[in-house]
Amino acid sequence: MHTFFNIPLTIQLDFIDDILYATPKRDKICPCGGRRHLHHKKEQDIRHSYTYEYGTITIRLTMYYERCQTCHVTTRHDGGLDVIQKTTANYRKLVTTVAKTHSLGYAARQFDVPKATIQGWRVKELI
Ligand SMILES: [Zn+2]
Repeated sequence: MHTFFNIPLTIQLDFIDDILYATPKRDKICPCGGRRHLHHKKEQDIRHSYTYEYGTITIRLTMYYERCQTCHVTTRHDGGLDVIQKTTANYRKLVTTVAKTHSLGYAARQFDVPKATIQGWRVKELI
């Protein structure tokens, strides 16, 4: 882990012009043993962390869309950050923890995330 951002070491971090670029290492071999072909790559700003000093920490994450040439399964590779709705699992956990320890309304204001969205994340967490 990169200690202060809770990001796996397999993701390269570059801080350029106030933007934190996160570039995961591609896994070119599918679990079936076939080779994955990269058909699309995109950068997206994803909410990842929060500090009282800086507020929400956003990373510019490169995500890969790959298709296995053997089993033809298409996958999106996000470096294990589990991106949903432009947030990482780390961020969703932060927000839902604050909602639990304080209140839903407090977390919604603090993180500027709709209450319903936070409730959805809490439900997913229970499954
Ligand atoms: Zn495969």
